[in-house]
Amino acid sequence: MDLQLTPKEKELAAKGRAFCDEVLIPLEQVTDEHGELPMEKRPAVRQAVRDWGLAGINHSKEHGGLGLTMVEQIVIEEQLGRVTNGLWSCVWRPPVSLKFGTDAQKQEYLRPSIHGERRGCFAITEPEAGSDPRRVQTIATLKNGKWHLSGEKWFVTSYNASDFIIVHAHVDGDPNKPSLFLVDKPVNNMTHIRSPKFMHNFAFDHAELRFEGTEIAEDKLLGQIGQGLEMTKDWFVEARLQIAAHAFGAATRAAEIANDYATTRHQFDRPIRDFQGVEFMLADMAVELFAAKTMLYRVAWEIDSGADRSRIHAHASALKLFCSEVAGRVIDKALQVLGGRGYMRENPVERLYRDIRVDRIWEGTSEIQRVVVGGQIRKRGFNVYTGWH
Ligand SMILES: Cc1cc2nc3c(=O)[nH]c(=O)nc-3n(C[C@H](O)[C@H](O)[C@H](O)COP(=O)(O)OP(=O)(O)OC[C@H]3O[C@@H](n4cnc5c(N)ncnc54)[C@H](O)[C@@H]3O)c2cc1C
Repeated sequence: MDLQLTPKEKELAAKGRAFCDEVLIPLEQVTDEHGELPMEKRPAVRQAVRDWGLAGINHSKEHGGLGLTMVEQIVIEEQLGRVTNGLWSCVWRPPVSLKFGTDAQKQEYLRPSIHGERRGCFAITEPEAGSDPRRVQTIATLKNGKWHLSGEKWFVTSYNASDFIIVHAHVDGDPNKPSLFLVDKPVNNMTHIRSPKFMHNFAFDHAELRFEGTEIAEDKLLGQIGQGLEMTKDWFVEARLQIAAHAFGAATRAAEIANDYATTRHQFDRPIRDFQGVEFMLADMAVELFAAKTMLYRVAWEIDSGADRSRIHAHASALKLFCSEVAGRVIDKALQVLGGRGYMRENPVERLYRDIRVDRIWEGTSEIQRVVVGGQIRKRGFNVYTGWH
């Protein structure tokens, strides 16, 4: 068993760290104050992602991406997670479902998305369909060689940074025919209802959209009719690992800030870390981060070693659940160690505290991850989590 990073992995981690320090961290406060990354700052950041060689981190060389292993991706994602206000999302990761497109679709959507010339957002959630995507009411009907889409989508992240939308709809309203459609912006008969404010001030918006007989060409179906959920499942695994890595990176930054403060802050004639009440908080943070990091890299390594798809799915859920909950606990303790300073918006720990909450909700809530883990134990026994593959 070798748990050392290779020279290439160390180099990628250092590059990810430097990119955050030089390009993203200086944008944190303006993003928080402005509510999102100001439009005029976006082109320079996009160019920086290309200049730093971070375009297409999650795609194969065959499609124009960097062809990184999952461990190599995670060493970068861990660094990106340190940054507040969702600025990690400035480094685009085109949805893996685009790989299932026809050659023409790959040429039109996947390749330009990898190079940062285009960007897509993903619209699954609806007012009546969150954890249970079978309740989706957006309907796609084929009439005279055109797809007609009708329905409402919520929480569409990065809508205002995207030029196309991947819309999840049920063909003919049949929940057994979940399917994905590529919708170019601007499009007919679609309303951007609003982009509400959220607890975090994220780099881009989260929009609500209404389709009312939106007409798109027949060849805008991605994959096959009925394959929508299967293609999204692959995206979930990748997204859950990314969230775990971001949550870990965020919690590590908060813990380091708290640790430094505990050394330099004096009260009652001694550094506050000399009070066991403070040191025990730091100890609990370190132990939880230690466990989370070990789990994160094990699951990434399993993917690279070709573990079977259902096992990876099972482990990705457990990982996302654990890392997002650890991050919540660690950042809460870090804020406590910082006292009143931790509650100030200019302090990154305050922003991380707000940012990290959504990691227990999106890409499957903590409860849904427990449903997956529980189902796996029921089907295959505890060995899925306690054994080696
Ligand atoms: C900031 C943000 C960005 C998002 N971005 C996107 C995006 O880009 N695209 C997109 O499509 N969606 C996006 N989402 C939506 C997100 O994926 C959903 O919010 C999430 O899946 C939960 O759905 P819901 O909010 O409808 O909650 P519900 O599904 O209504 O759940 C409410 C509560 O019930 C619990 N619950 C539900 N079912 C079960 C069960 N079987 N067992 C136990 N408990 C259960 C949940 O855990 C939760 O606590 C985003 C959400 C947020 C907040």
